[in-house]
Amino acid sequence: MAFDIKEVAPDIFQIDDEVVGVPGLGAVYLVNEDRKALVDCGPTSSADTVIRALKSLGVKPEEIDYIIVSHVHLDHAGGAGKLLESMPRAKVVVHRRGAKHLEDPEKLVASATIAQGIEIINRYGRVVPVAASRLWPVVGGESIPLGDSQTLKIIEAPGHAPHELCVSERYGGVFVGDTFGLYFEDSGRHAVIQVHPPPSLDIEVCLETVEKIKDLRPERLYFAHFGTASQAGEVIGEITRQLHGYLKLAQDAVSRGRLDGLEKVLRERITRELEPLKGKLALYQFVWDYLVSAFVEGFLEYCRKKQKSMIVGEVK
Ligand SMILES: [Zn+2]
Repeated sequence: MAFDIKEVAPDIFQIDDEVVGVPGLGAVYLVNEDRKALVDCGPTSSADTVIRALKSLGVKPEEIDYIIVSHVHLDHAGGAGKLLESMPRAKVVVHRRGAKHLEDPEKLVASATIAQGIEIINRYGRVVPVAASRLWPVVGGESIPLGDSQTLKIIEAPGHAPHELCVSERYGGVFVGDTFGLYFEDSGRHAVIQVHPPPSLDIEVCLETVEKIKDLRPERLYFAHFGTASQAGEVIGEITRQLHGYLKLAQDAVSRGRLDGLEKVLRERITRELEPLKGKLALYQFVWDYLVSAFVEGFLEYCRKKQKSMIVGEVK
């Protein structure tokens, strides 16, 4: 079987990990230096695909030194425990706030089930816990030298989740996990949408993080969903406008004191934003069924929290 693998910068490979069998949905990145790192690893049900894709690149799973997870959501980190069984020397680099959820995934799975529904959680596969001795909890600011020509830098990146990290590399790219939302390309067009599930979405914090990454002036953004955006400045501008749009939508609804009708407005907005993706039907459908619904809930919960803080006089 041929794998969808691209070399997106020197010795950096983008691998489609075929999340739940949908092509073009989830990307795992391999940084293939003297020491080797994966950035994100997909859910348990993608572990075999990841291992076979690595082998097709001539990399043995035993050679992987780090699995860096952008955050602990199951489609990014759920497969870490399973992969470690074939990667005896690998450490899982994870935000300190997410480490406990990989060690004991019960709460993580429960919260993901509420956000996305049991059907999809089952399709991600059973989450194998990661032993504490194999975790490297980080907070941002750490460097991971992989060899003479590459050092990865960890950047704390809250907003989508409080345990989110971005990772910069020396050729001008930044691995953005879900911090920036989702980016898909089709036939020379691209779609960008914000997908941040409850309970932790905070749009103001998302905007601060996007500014922080923008200040690094990246040339490329490596999206987990999905792929490499080479016009980084343009895409960051688009995402910033989108986040400001959502912030205004939330602020207006909260100041009117009415959240009803918001869901309809959100869905109409997302329909327009996702229009360039319509040619990829399976992907389009998955995004609507499992990701957009989680975002709608996340957004409404964010608005409810804002409304509550207004009532008790703690407006941010
Ligand atoms: Zn996520």
